[in-house]
Amino acid sequence: MTDSAPNDAHPTFADLLSDERLVRALADVGYESPSPIQAEAIPPLLDGHDIIGMAQTGTGKTAAFALPILSGIDVTRPETQALVLAPTRELALQVAEAFASYAKHLPGLNVVPVYGGAGYTEQLAGLRKGAHVVVGTPGRVIDHLERGRLDLTTISNLVLDEADEMLKMGFADDVERILRDTPSTKQVALFSATMPSTIRRLANQYLTDPVEVKVQSQTVTAKNVRQRWLLVPHFRKLDALSRFLEVEPHEGVIVFVRTKSATEELAEQLRVLGHTAQAINGDLVQAQRERAVNALKNGSLDILVATDVAARGLDVDRVSHVVNYDIPHDPEAYVHRIGRTGRAGRSGDAILFVTPRERRLLSVIERTTGQPVTPMDIPTAEQVNARRVELFEEAITDALASRDVHLFRGMVGKYAEATGVDPLDVAAALAVRAHDGRTFLLDAKDDIQLSERDRRDRERGERGDRPERPQRPTPDGMAVYRLAVGKRQRATPKSIMGALANEGGLGRSDFGNISIRFDHSLVELPDPLPNGAENALSRTRIGGELIHLERDRGPRGSGGSGGRSGSSGPRRGGGRPWDNAGKGPVRSARAPRRKG
Ligand code: AMP
Repeated sequence: MTDSAPNDAHPTFADLLSDERLVRALADVGYESPSPIQAEAIPPLLDGHDIIGMAQTGTGKTAAFALPILSGIDVTRPETQALVLAPTRELALQVAEAFASYAKHLPGLNVVPVYGGAGYTEQLAGLRKGAHVVVGTPGRVIDHLERGRLDLTTISNLVLDEADEMLKMGFADDVERILRDTPSTKQVALFSATMPSTIRRLANQYLTDPVEVKVQSQTVTAKNVRQRWLLVPHFRKLDALSRFLEVEPHEGVIVFVRTKSATEELAEQLRVLGHTAQAINGDLVQAQRERAVNALKNGSLDILVATDVAARGLDVDRVSHVVNYDIPHDPEAYVHRIGRTGRAGRSGDAILFVTPRERRLLSVIERTTGQPVTPMDIPTAEQVNARRVELFEEAITDALASRDVHLFRGMVGKYAEATGVDPLDVAAALAVRAHDGRTFLLDAKDDIQLSERDRRDRERGERGDRPERPQRPTPDGMAVYRLAVGKRQRATPKSIMGALANEGGLGRSDFGNISIRFDHSLVELPDPLPNGAENALSRTRIGGELIHLERDRGPRGSGGSGGRSGSSGPRRGGGRPWDNAGKGPVRSARAPRRKG
């Protein structure tokens, strides 16, 4: 096998899309190449065909229908030109966010999510401004239709996303009612993870001569690779990986993520935690890539964080583990990824991180590879701590063999005698020093908990479908504040921290988690805020809009507090798992090399 760059068998986004602004936006979000469903669905959609796409969350289906739609929107016309129906408000928001990010370089293009359980004001304001693309749940779309606030007679594209879920949730009549309000000339894309007869019937009735696309696959996986998966909320993935690396003996590890930017980000986070990690992605020139691969081969590097494209053909015997940090888009990619370990007749380990929403993709992977992937638990604080203590003891044993012990023994004895301090306390004090005052043990209350429902889903093999909410409580002395600006206003952790720090007199360490949603953000800030800060911030704007800072009152229409990972700002120290994990004795926090 050879190390290779992307080749002709894999089309690029520029091959598929003629609008360079979309290609640029995809580069901005860090997509390197189209996923299989994108490569298959985009051309027929651009040719104007109706399509039936068999694809589940995680395959990249959203971009598969969003990009062709965006290619055809005329922003000079204010009317609604595309409607996407989704079963849940979480999905509607996620799809709207995806549209907005792909439309980054299409000025004036408005995407408006409409979903139940939320106030009408924001949604109405969005619709009044002229929503080129409406993404909504069926119930709320009908609501707006009936109130005369949404006109679907002008649409040229309709998407039924997760159609099987919509029918399962009892939206069949609503969907048909909405379809009746749309022009017969529209193009329809129906996406569904499964094809029960009800979906077939719906397709027969409302789609014209549809092209069927699905992620085909039939590949065999290496038999000498043990495959395990773990269920982890999206925002705890880093913590889970860090714990895993601490307790699992390993040599070289390849960690797969979806985007170029994620390779850089994760590699940096791992380095902060004391690992030797490097990113490889399609942006590296061949020489840089080779250097990284050689470092992994010779053991000076333990972790490569890679995209699928960058890892194509990578052949390093020393790779003991492949970690699918982001679930791959399709089983083939999975098979290819895990084939990076278990080479040269050795055994290997493949770990698959699955978030509750991606549960179904796991079954597809299992079905197509024909091999079981066994569940594993995220290491607990107890397990991590046991390992840390073990390494601590090993470090003492190693150090006792040093010639310097004699020298220091004399000094310690002298100190103990002069001060009357118990020599055991002196030894303990030296250990504290060796750890630089950092907390040595994880706290069991920071263990990664799955919700009762996720746990049940895991047992039963069903998928969850709701926002992943953090189990981590807001730290003492802090509270979650809500800002009325989000991705739509192009808010970023940096712009939020900048604005709040400048105008509210807050310091870097005053910021906890920052989570940016579609039309609002949640920020952990000191509780109470410093004197005068609230007043000063009442005039603060981000992206031209007032931030309307207020204490978050928990879930609202748009997904509630906590939630999906969005982006995170810097975190304060103080007992959170990711502050300490891997930072015991930095070197010894890593597991010993496994003998090859
Ligand atoms: P979806 O199946 O549409 O829910 O997408 C799953 C995830 O894959 C989302 O986080 C997308 O941002 C991401 N994604 C979609 N297409 C690509 C791509 N071509 N390359 C990398 N990531 C992608």
